[in-house]
Amino acid sequence: MPTRTLDCFYLDQPEFAAAYLLRGGAEAAFVDNNTTLAVPRLLAALAAEGLEPADVRWIIVTHVHLDHAGGTAALAAACPSATVLCHPRAERHLLDPSRLVASARVVYGDATFDRLYGTIDPIAASRVRVVADGERVPLGSRDLEFLHTRGHANHHMCILDAHRGDVLTGDAFGLCYPTLQRGRRFLFPSTSPTEFDAPEARAAVRRIVATGADRALLTHFGPITDLAAGAEDLLDWIDASEAVLEAAVVCDLPNGALEAFCFERIDALFDRKLAAAGLQLDTRERDLLRHDRELNAAGLAFVAAKRRG
Ligand SMILES: [Zn+2]
Repeated sequence: MPTRTLDCFYLDQPEFAAAYLLRGGAEAAFVDNNTTLAVPRLLAALAAEGLEPADVRWIIVTHVHLDHAGGTAALAAACPSATVLCHPRAERHLLDPSRLVASARVVYGDATFDRLYGTIDPIAASRVRVVADGERVPLGSRDLEFLHTRGHANHHMCILDAHRGDVLTGDAFGLCYPTLQRGRRFLFPSTSPTEFDAPEARAAVRRIVATGADRALLTHFGPITDLAAGAEDLLDWIDASEAVLEAAVVCDLPNGALEAFCFERIDALFDRKLAAAGLQLDTRERDLLRHDRELNAAGLAFVAAKRRG
């Protein structure tokens, strides 16, 4: 079975956030799981493969942002034999999600949080295993290898499925919405809060290309090929984002005005890139990208304010 891209319909949008189902013989693994509300979809995909929840050996999270790992506890509860694999810095958030949940409740408000994420329970330590950079775990007759990749978040890792020629990149190789791919590819990095680091983000992109994988499987959204060309696009965006960040650090505005400062510049960067890709957006697409423009600007403003001390 080829690795399956599962549409989680995050924020009620199609092809916005994915989970992946990998199979090796009678064993299965999920990579990323979106939210608690997506778990029934993930289990339905498993059943469609003729597999049981008990056949899931690994629940892998690229990082603990809630659109990637919000459903981990619920999925682990449904899959009794599964071990959750994560970056060492992600573990504490899985064992005790209270800080993650509290900060998301501040961002979204309680009503929206409940609608988007449902309940996020702590996971028992016995169900969670951290994986080192370069570590491998078996899935059926093949191995999956983990690459620690900072830049987007300090608790981020990618998964190399060399046997299939795939690398599952979470948010480390950008976002590429299928609806925006008509003509020149439109692939852009996530600089969302709170840990964007431009040199690390560049290193992650280069390391992903250096795996020699044929395909990158993006959480947002789906497989892409020609990783070398993708890296060129991403590195250019990361450079431009870093320039906005540096300008924000040294500008004479107070910290409270940095988000608007960054938004104006990131908004213009998106417009420039959309024009270069020959894209004219409909209303739905504009809304979809508005979310990313705001998140990317907020992430740069956050880091700029932090750097000012
Ligand atoms: Zn993320």
